[in-house]
Amino acid sequence: MNSFTETELLPDILRAIEELGFIKPTPIQAKTIPHLLSEDRDIIASAQTGTGKTAAFGLPAIQLTKLEDKRTQTLILCPTRELCMQITKDLSNYGKYLDGLGVVPVYGGANIDTQLRALRKAAQIVVATPGRAMDLIRRKKLVLKTVVRVVLDEADEMLSMGFKEDLESILAETPQERQVLLFSATMPRAINSMTKQYMKDPLKIAAAHEDAVAQNIKHIFYMVHAHDRYELLKRVADMNPKIYGIVFCRTRRETKEIAHKLMHDGYNADAIHGDLSQAQRDEVMGRFRSHHLQLLVATDVAARGLDVDDLTHIINLNLPDDAEIYIHRSGRTGRAGKSGVSIAIINTREMRSISTIENRYKLKFEKQMAPSGKDICTKQLYTLIDRIEKVKVDEKQIGPFLPAILEKLEWLSREELIKHFVSAEFNRFLEYYKNAKDINVGDRPKREKQTRQERRKTLFSRLFINVGSLNNLNPVRLIGLINESLNSSDATIGNIEVMKKFAFFEIEESKAKQLIKILNGGEFEGVKLVVESSQEKPVTKESSDHWPSKKRTYAKKDGKNSGGKKRGGGRRNRK
Ligand code: ADP
Ligand code: MG
Repeated sequence: MNSFTETELLPDILRAIEELGFIKPTPIQAKTIPHLLSEDRDIIASAQTGTGKTAAFGLPAIQLTKLEDKRTQTLILCPTRELCMQITKDLSNYGKYLDGLGVVPVYGGANIDTQLRALRKAAQIVVATPGRAMDLIRRKKLVLKTVVRVVLDEADEMLSMGFKEDLESILAETPQERQVLLFSATMPRAINSMTKQYMKDPLKIAAAHEDAVAQNIKHIFYMVHAHDRYELLKRVADMNPKIYGIVFCRTRRETKEIAHKLMHDGYNADAIHGDLSQAQRDEVMGRFRSHHLQLLVATDVAARGLDVDDLTHIINLNLPDDAEIYIHRSGRTGRAGKSGVSIAIINTREMRSISTIENRYKLKFEKQMAPSGKDICTKQLYTLIDRIEKVKVDEKQIGPFLPAILEKLEWLSREELIKHFVSAEFNRFLEYYKNAKDINVGDRPKREKQTRQERRKTLFSRLFINVGSLNNLNPVRLIGLINESLNSSDATIGNIEVMKKFAFFEIEESKAKQLIKILNGGEFEGVKLVVESSQEKPVTKESSDHWPSKKRTYAKKDGKNSGGKKRGGGRRNRK
């Protein structure tokens, strides 16, 4: 189906969703909307988060609403207040050209009188969390005998949150002949037992798995002892100064503990879990959405319905029991055409779970070694230097102080001065990682060698550039030149060898062509640049060993906004 106009949706609804930018139905919408508009058979629909399930049940529900009847016709149950509000908002938007449509959210933790008042007005569609729904039913304020359809949204989460009995009681309050629409991202067994009891011959609809597994997500696992999971998490954060991600934990307690430790260690992190009040939850989410938090520690339940597009990393502090949940978690990154990284931290026994996910979803994990203290220091050091290079100098503010500063520092040479500034920022960090132990477990030394060599064989191209140290080129400036040319700091840069009149460097293969094209014809210190591939074959260890100069490996370079170091291994909160 290529357009919503091919459905039987009313013009008033089409107009509203067109304004929202909906043109083509998503796969789950294409399958459910025609069915719901024409039949009252129950359905069980499964599709990953972000695939448009709300409109899949919402649009037909709105269309089928008898507007002149104010009583409740559709009951939508969902697990959290946040979802409740989101669904209400979405449905109100879809139905904004329909006069007399009332969509009413009711959820726990909020003033019940306001909700009671809303229910007395037009409340054809009620969006409720199960607990509050039960409460209102007991008070006889939510009357379900006129209900035609019940939607169970995020059914898996509702069950895993312990709402099974509430759901059953609520369903029992609705008329026998109502339609039940169950939507879920995953289909655990518990759902089956419920559907058998409360649904009649349901039609099963699924958006194919192939669609669900995003292609632009890189899956990585690290193998460490359980007690080193936190240490690894920190190292991952330190290796990725621009990280913006969710750390998934199993339990509320673990969530709190990990977030607490991260904050204590100076990271921009916080947690959302069920023990927070709504105000606290909103506050945390607000900070995360505005990027003031870089790491959000959460359980699956708490992270449901949370719509954030540009996450760089998903970190599974533990692998979930169910492979589908892993896919679901990782699908939160790599959205909207961006690339993302999904990391699983595992122990030796969990290798089997990795294989299960690989086989079931036809994807491949890359085993990576936990970054060493040296890796991290290198990374952080170059991030720092990059930041210093690119920092905006406010001449006006700093001007008055300059003469005195210059006079005081007069006795230091340029080189010494640089050393002093870098050390001032960096010493504590070096201190923290000085004695950092190797936390990798498993067949370490051989593996590491292999991965490095493999990575080099597959990943890097080696390029020649016609400027060298005589042109004031050094590794840092070269990295700057590369990033500037590519207009991003995402490219992985390998060995750099700066000779007097020219230099060689490695750049990830996928970026090489583009870089050659941009750099050629450009200028560096007044020299017209010539850049070419230094050999046809990708670089191998042996071949690059011929070069006599001292070689250093520079870790992938990253952006500038990491903030200074507060404690070792940590990052200062920016707010
Ligand atoms: P799910 O419930 O499956 O996790 P949502 O219903 O929350 O997904 O939809 C995810 C996002 O996609 C929302 O921002 C929604 O507005 C948008 N969306 C839904 N359907 C379409 C569509 N057909 N075209 C464009 N955007 C859509
Ligand atoms: Mg949804």
